[in-house]
Amino acid sequence: MRVLLIGPPGAGKGTQAARIAAHFDLAQIATGDLLRGEIAADTQLGRTAKGYVDRGDLVPDELVITLTKARVVKANREGGYILDGYPRTLAQAEAAHRWATARGVSFDLALLFEIGTDELLARLAGRARQEGRSDDTEQTIRHRLEVFQSQTYPLIDYYRQRGILVRTEAVGPVDAITERICAVLHWHKARALAAGADRPEWTFDPADE
Ligand code: ADP
Repeated sequence: MRVLLIGPPGAGKGTQAARIAAHFDLAQIATGDLLRGEIAADTQLGRTAKGYVDRGDLVPDELVITLTKARVVKANREGGYILDGYPRTLAQAEAAHRWATARGVSFDLALLFEIGTDELLARLAGRARQEGRSDDTEQTIRHRLEVFQSQTYPLIDYYRQRGILVRTEAVGPVDAITERICAVLHWHKARALAAGADRPEWTFDPADE
């Protein structure tokens, strides 16, 4: 199963991604975590990305695409993935679309986390106190919400037009949200199986190694 999560910062994508990945035995690929790993390891990519992350801006598409592609291709080969934080721009979505179509596959579901701004701001302020993330200051949080509206929001229409957008209410107890999402994914899996879609879809391509 190939699932991507779309939602503003603070919507709980990371928490739910970990739970869903464990439940369905999928790889969890979180671009924010990958970028923070590169920054902590002080790699060249990390040094370039750091300023963007700290300001709450999106890291340039080419960097994120480079960072993500090999992981997505590998996870695709190994049974599927939950993408948390990718794609966040139309250019990234197009890149992902190209990787997938080159392998005769496509995303199964784009799961949209719906949540109001007041709830988000409250959650992010709480996370800032607990985790001390450098991009969780109030000013940066507001900026990240604006970036979501301007750059990521168009993906909703993009995936709606492809017929794979599913909305989920991201408010309420964490367990209840997980249950709702798992139900959606089980339903999708059953439907795909009934349609005979669960055949091995990917052939090994040495160019990916
Ligand atoms: P949040 O969803 O709370 O903003 P993330 O950990 O997903 O947190 O992302 C943190 C930061 O990492 C973003 O503000 C951005 O700078 C960078 N980032 C993560 N994913 C992407 C992406 N797909 N494209 C560009 N930048 C990204």
